[in-house]
Amino acid sequence: MIQVLKFGGTSVANAENINKVISIVNNKHLSANNGTTIVVVSALGGITDLLLTAAQLASAGDETYKEKLSLIEQRHMEAVKQLIPVVSQSSLLSLVKKACNEIEDICNGIFLLKEFTPRSRDRVASYGEWLSSKIIVAAFNKEQEKALWQDAKELLVTNSNFTQAQLDVAVTHKNISNFYKALPVHSLVVVPGFIAANAEGVTTTLGRGGSDYTAAVFAAALQADTLEIWTDVSGMMTADPRLATNARIIPRISYHEAMELSHFGAKVIYPPTIQPVMAKGIPVWIKNTFAPEDEGTLIEVHGAKTGDIVRGISSINNIALISLEGSGMVGIPGFSKRLFEALSNEQINVILITQSSSEHSISVAIDASMAYKAKQAVDAAFANEIALQKVEPLFVETELSIAALVGENMKSHPGISGRMFSALGKNGVNIRAIAQGSSEKNISTVIATKDVKKAINVLHEEFFGTSYKQVHLFIVGTGNVGAKLLGQLQQQAQYLKERMHVVVKVIGLANSRNMVFNENGIDLQNWQQELQNGEASDLQHFVYQVINRNLRNSIFVDVTANDKVAGIYDQLLHKTISVVACNKIAAASVYSNYKKLKQLSEEFHGQFLFETNVGAALPVIGTLNDLTRSGDAVHKMQAVLSGTLNFVFNNYDGSRPFADVVKQAQDEGYTEPDPRLDLSGTDVMRKIMILAREAGDQMEMEDITNNSFLPESCMQGSVDDFYKAMAAEEAHFNKLYQQAKAAGCILKFVASYENGKASVGLQHIKPEHDLYHLYGKDNIVLFYTDRYKEQPLVVKGAGAGAEVTASGVFADIIRATKA
Ligand code: ADP
Ligand code: ASP
Ligand code: MG
Repeated sequence: MIQVLKFGGTSVANAENINKVISIVNNKHLSANNGTTIVVVSALGGITDLLLTAAQLASAGDETYKEKLSLIEQRHMEAVKQLIPVVSQSSLLSLVKKACNEIEDICNGIFLLKEFTPRSRDRVASYGEWLSSKIIVAAFNKEQEKALWQDAKELLVTNSNFTQAQLDVAVTHKNISNFYKALPVHSLVVVPGFIAANAEGVTTTLGRGGSDYTAAVFAAALQADTLEIWTDVSGMMTADPRLATNARIIPRISYHEAMELSHFGAKVIYPPTIQPVMAKGIPVWIKNTFAPEDEGTLIEVHGAKTGDIVRGISSINNIALISLEGSGMVGIPGFSKRLFEALSNEQINVILITQSSSEHSISVAIDASMAYKAKQAVDAAFANEIALQKVEPLFVETELSIAALVGENMKSHPGISGRMFSALGKNGVNIRAIAQGSSEKNISTVIATKDVKKAINVLHEEFFGTSYKQVHLFIVGTGNVGAKLLGQLQQQAQYLKERMHVVVKVIGLANSRNMVFNENGIDLQNWQQELQNGEASDLQHFVYQVINRNLRNSIFVDVTANDKVAGIYDQLLHKTISVVACNKIAAASVYSNYKKLKQLSEEFHGQFLFETNVGAALPVIGTLNDLTRSGDAVHKMQAVLSGTLNFVFNNYDGSRPFADVVKQAQDEGYTEPDPRLDLSGTDVMRKIMILAREAGDQMEMEDITNNSFLPESCMQGSVDDFYKAMAAEEAHFNKLYQQAKAAGCILKFVASYENGKASVGLQHIKPEHDLYHLYGKDNIVLFYTDRYKEQPLVVKGAGAGAEVTASGVFADIIRATKA
């Protein structure tokens, strides 16, 4: 049996971790039945970066490179001292010292010459793996001679493309198999990863992350039974765990899928690693050094037949999109060849290509660091056509990233890209370019880097069934309704998670005094305290926070009655942030504003929901929308829409002053903060207007007739004055009541809409009327439509109160979540 085990930078970062590696390897080697174990190691975690930074600083004439060098020395010395018994430390310590001196000499040279070529880059970087492998082999051998050390440079032969050298596969395989033949039985060999040499023996490297590749090359050359990549995560995951909160391990994956995922940024495995082992059908395991008992991921010919259509999602940052455009390109062959030639002459790697079908433009994604070079090269290659204005100068966009879906099952499932684009669109992620490989294993999108985290999470929630959809709320208003809403959110959290796979977090909370933000979610048991400790309230800053946090599934919730708050919806909708409002001011403002908000919602795919504007939680607007959307036409609506007025007229029989009954309604929380909005009928006018608008009518407040029952004297001054004036007008109210009673009727404040006209006013209602049996703070709406001609469709129930209003807001939040 031959096994190749590779241990990454974190796995060998220090003595403690190296001891874990040793114990894993010992176990594996013991069970290898006299077979051979090849252990490929990375540099101690972070050392490659330190080496390259030191040399970079030196080349820039910055003396602080010496600090980096002493850190490098210290890290290795420490590892030696902790791993090796004092008596046998000295030879290894002097080996490390000698290597560190060499690194210093090289860096001093770079410092003096101010020259840092790719060739010296590789020379410097190679010390990382050289040192780690020397230390690790010594650690294996501290008690008895168990392990051999083999210089990779003697076996892996590459071309001279420094920093990214390509292997001479034939020679390398031959070298490795000769080396193997000379090994004693049951050998354990430690090999430095990442480093190789060209035919002249000059050090080269295989590219950052290249130790994985070294291991794969050994596995392929020896036709190993298994290749194991030991790292710091328990396998290849459905997305980068540093980005996606819900990422989970993929138990089995095909070579092709693993290759695509790594090519598009899944750093857990270096992309070129798969090809050599795939060609030989060698199974690859990704295992966790820090949780060796975890199963890990098996990469092999067939991925597992799980229900997931998408196997994984990955992303690459630092992308530039270069586009060649021009009318002169149409139908002329050879343009793309010349473009790609220009890029390849400059060694610029093409990550993704899209061409519009009209052939007016070709866009290519490349590493952003190559953008300038690309521009020079392509503009030079097309200088003639540019001069003749057949082609535009190369257009370069930066600060972009690629987000890609990978999965072999995607090809047999139509509509995946549609779902991908729609999920991104609903979250305001603008897609700059799209590419789908013809094998349909991969769908890639180019998006702004600032959107990557959001996009990866959105896609993960969309395509992985067991993943929780995380919803981020920004709530303004902590009065009656707000407080109830927060209570309900807390109470329902468990249910939403378990039954709907939705996790709702309140990220921002504000009232008129304070505001607070917490990206982990405000503690809903303790929101009063958190809010009190927050900063001073500032609405524009709140908006800024909502927008700039750029969180997926963001919903702004307005539970105030404030006009300033209603004035910020447009900014939010522009950024695809849904708005849920129980505040009526926006929907009842001038028609042009209402219409604008509706259009923004449509254009930018954010929801604008305000079901509680009419009848609190009663499904009034929802019902009306369902009717019109299903092709019905609403001709007439008759409604009692003021919980306050209903309460007042249900409770007033002359035995107690009218003003007292109104006060009771206010105390019990049924009225607007200023009860005159209810009593004057203005609030009812707003509601019937909103219904008329939702039914398709372009209505303004001035278009509504209001037959008010409130004497003029009640409308002046403060709320206190209002109560006094009402008391003084008791006789007026009593008369209204007595007249109705005498006619065998009760009083209802009715809103009517018919043929485009709306009116509100007090009416005598007879016992046989649909509006008669309304109790407490009930609301009722009768819809007469094409389909509901004689008997109306009736919605009836409690139409006011903090608890029900909050539940209506809650329902809108869920609606926005599901949209
Ligand atoms: P090593 O030093 O062991 O080679 P790397 O840092 O190169 O380790 O790769 C492992 C890291 O890759 C993980 O810690 C994880 O943060 C990152 N990573 C990115 N995408 C994925 C993914 N899809 N699955 C697992 N890990 C991923
Ligand atoms: N040490 C190298 C790097 O950091 C190679 C590797 O770890 O795979 O890129
Ligand atoms: Mg790696």
